Parts: sequence; structure tokens; C-alpha cells
Amino acid sequence: MAKKCDRCNSTNMFTHHTSWYNNQVICDVCRKKEMARSDYDACRKAELEAVKRGDLNFNFLPAWKEVQNG
Ligand SMILES: [Zn+2]
Repeated sequence: MAKKCDRCNSTNMFTHHTSWYNNQVICDVCRKKEMARSDYDACRKAELEAVKRGDLNFNFLPAWKEVQNG
């Protein structure tokens, strides 16, 4: 049974990743989109701060939203 991307429902899950923004398991395409977002650095920092506080279920963006860059 092939895995599906939680975000785009693609079954091209050659590699899969857990999103930095929430707990979705996402495909490579979605991950690249995520990394291209202008708030990616802010998200990474917020996630690290949350882990330091002991909050392991931190969601920067619980409901995923696409952003238009430019
Ligand atoms: Zn995807």
C-alpha cells in the first residue's frame, strides 16, 4: 500500500518528510515548496524554541495554507 502525501495526496512518496509547519507527512515536492516560503526560517526557529520549552507538539501552521511568493 503506497503512502500518500498528507498535503497534496500525491502517491509519489519516494521520500517522505514530516513538515516543519505541522505534523503532516509530506512528499518531496511539498517539502521544497515549504522550504521556499518566506516564513520558513521563522518556522524553524519557533519549532526549536518550542522543543526547548518541552513542547514537542508545536504546530507553526496547524492548518496548512499555501502562500503566493511574488
Ligand atoms: Zn505533497
